[in-house]
Amino acid sequence: MRILHVIPTKIKSSSQDQISIQWDDGHLSVISLRTLRNECPCAGCQGETVLLKTYLPNPQPEMPGKYVLKGAQQVGSYALQITWGDGHATGLYTWEKLRSLCECEECLKRT
Ligand SMILES: [Zn+2]
Ligand SMILES: [Zn+2]
Repeated sequence: MRILHVIPTKIKSSSQDQISIQWDDGHLSVISLRTLRNECPCAGCQGETVLLKTYLPNPQPEMPGKYVLKGAQQVGSYALQITWGDGHATGLYTWEKLRSLCECEECLKRT
């Protein structure tokens, strides 16, 4: 198994609804904001597993701005914290997570 130790060298919003990430191994990722938000790794979005029981979050009504990228800030050397248009900002996207969400042609073909 290959352990991924790539880090992004450049992250930018390449258009209204997607971001692009340049990795230090040369790969260029594109991820739609919709995918990014739906895959938000925080407990509020993905639920929490406590003592082998999984607690799913209550469904939240969709707020305006849910898929709008307001800001992104690097956390330490391992993750990106993203702030959304509806004020949600608890998701920490690790580099591995971001890379696994890549929607470039090459990665889509592989799945
Ligand atoms: Zn979340
Ligand atoms: Zn890719």
